[in-house]
Amino acid sequence: MKQKILFGTLLIASLGTVSLAFAQQTTTPPLPPQATEFYTPIPPKVTPGAMNHQAPSDAIVLFDGSSLSNFVSAKDGSSPAPWKIEQGELVVQKGTGDIQSKLSFGDAQYHIEWSAPTEIVGEGQGRGNSGFFLMGLYEVQILDSYESKTYTNGQAGSIYKQYPPLVNPLRGPGDWNYYDIIFKAPRFDKNGMLTSPATVTVMINGVLVQNNVTLKGPTEYIGIPNYKAHADALPIKLQDHSNPVRFRNIWVRPL
Ligand code: MG
Repeated sequence: MKQKILFGTLLIASLGTVSLAFAQQTTTPPLPPQATEFYTPIPPKVTPGAMNHQAPSDAIVLFDGSSLSNFVSAKDGSSPAPWKIEQGELVVQKGTGDIQSKLSFGDAQYHIEWSAPTEIVGEGQGRGNSGFFLMGLYEVQILDSYESKTYTNGQAGSIYKQYPPLVNPLRGPGDWNYYDIIFKAPRFDKNGMLTSPATVTVMINGVLVQNNVTLKGPTEYIGIPNYKAHADALPIKLQDHSNPVRFRNIWVRPL
């Protein structure tokens, strides 16, 4: 009996020694708090817009109500943009075609404000339809789907025919909606193979509707989307879908 107790005591003592040695081997000395505090590079200072939706100091303003000088017709990419400015608001002119920015963009943050026509005409995709095309290829839908039914992946805030919006935070015809969009352009290798698809995050009126979704390719009206290699930066496009949608405050921050 005595032997058993002695053996037990020795076993516990030796296990204790082993675990102590293990603990000594794996414990690192405590870090000072400064070890995880970094001072460079310093994030650039940006002055926020005076009002909520005005452009921050480092944005490129594409439309501020004064002129269409930053846009051209998308028909030929060079002739003057054929839409009208009325009281500082850009109005789609039916039948004149899409317009596109003179500058090209890849990864970028966008802000855009739009308002559906107060005179309600049509329904579904025929009511207050326009679109904001990232790189001229990937459409974030603009549509008066405030109280008008259509396919969910075609309503306002959808990535057209790819992703419906998570919610519908739209304001009604005549009121202003604002989109904040964060876009990562797709990457292609030198052989034109897709190495990284595009992703996009969209907020409507400050409410998240697309949470970093992965685009399946250019947004198509008919058929399955498929990537085709293109430039690292391309103009954005605004759609003429025959409805007099109005725009104001369009700015971009290339990333
Ligand atoms: Mg559209």
